[in-house]
Amino acid sequence: MNTILRMLEPRSRLGVLVRFTLYVSLIGIANGAFTLWRDWQAVPLPVYLVAHAVLVGGPFTAFFFFMLMQQVRLQKQLSRLSRMDGLTGLNNRRSFMEMAERLMQNSDGGALLLIDADHFKKINDTYGHQAGDKCLKSIAHAMMWNLRETDIAGRIGGEEFAVFLANATPAQVRTIGARLTKPIPFSAGSDDRPLTVTLSVGAAPCCDGCSLDDLFHRADHALYQAKALGRARVVIWDEIEESPGFVDASRAVC
Ligand code: GH3
Ligand code: MG
Ligand code: MG
Repeated sequence: MNTILRMLEPRSRLGVLVRFTLYVSLIGIANGAFTLWRDWQAVPLPVYLVAHAVLVGGPFTAFFFFMLMQQVRLQKQLSRLSRMDGLTGLNNRRSFMEMAERLMQNSDGGALLLIDADHFKKINDTYGHQAGDKCLKSIAHAMMWNLRETDIAGRIGGEEFAVFLANATPAQVRTIGARLTKPIPFSAGSDDRPLTVTLSVGAAPCCDGCSLDDLFHRADHALYQAKALGRARVVIWDEIEESPGFVDASRAVC
């Protein structure tokens, strides 16, 4: 299919001219042949018109539809690829932000989770970059496994992920967040050694007047706390206790 398309595709002005001349000549030859056939066989006009439309116009119309369908299929494929993270198949950052923004507006409650793999650099350093990539795929798989159909997930950075839990109650935010912190198995190395990785999660529940940006600030702060408290845990922004001397910039956001 691609070979045919490549052969038909003009690649220069000269190519356009050559193909245009060729196609118009083909139509001209077909028209001429039909006129000769009509005169030779004394074909009645209605029969001639129908046969002409079907046999000359038909292939060109079919070709036009074929090209149109190819084009639409290609556009859909490109659009999907432009929204997807190539390694994990999750939404990429831009796509996640757009979807989360939309979901947030139509959601009653819910929360943004920022998720970061724990000690990921060590996996790369010990078992190699390929093992790290495998680990990222396993994380994405485990995330999708633990989320509901209405939730959206994305890879927003190297080993950083984000999830928007639509219409989630505080209890659901805690349960889903906690599920994500369980060790995720993956294998690495030439001997496919079984390993695990954990995630730290910072959650920011939606609030009146909060923008997605505000939720990002809050979730980021909660994630920072989850790391500081020892990793492999979920911290919810609403439940963070202020420690003396700690300036929580995100609390001033909204
Ligand atoms: P922490 O628990 O504090 O989050 O530590 P960490 O080691 O996970 O975090 P750090 O920021 O020190 O390291 C992240 C590493 O992720 C560094 C970078 O090389 C690696 N990384 C980023 N993107 C990719 C990727 O696509 N594939 C692989 N294999 N590694 C990646
Ligand atoms: Mg990180
Ligand atoms: Mg990390």
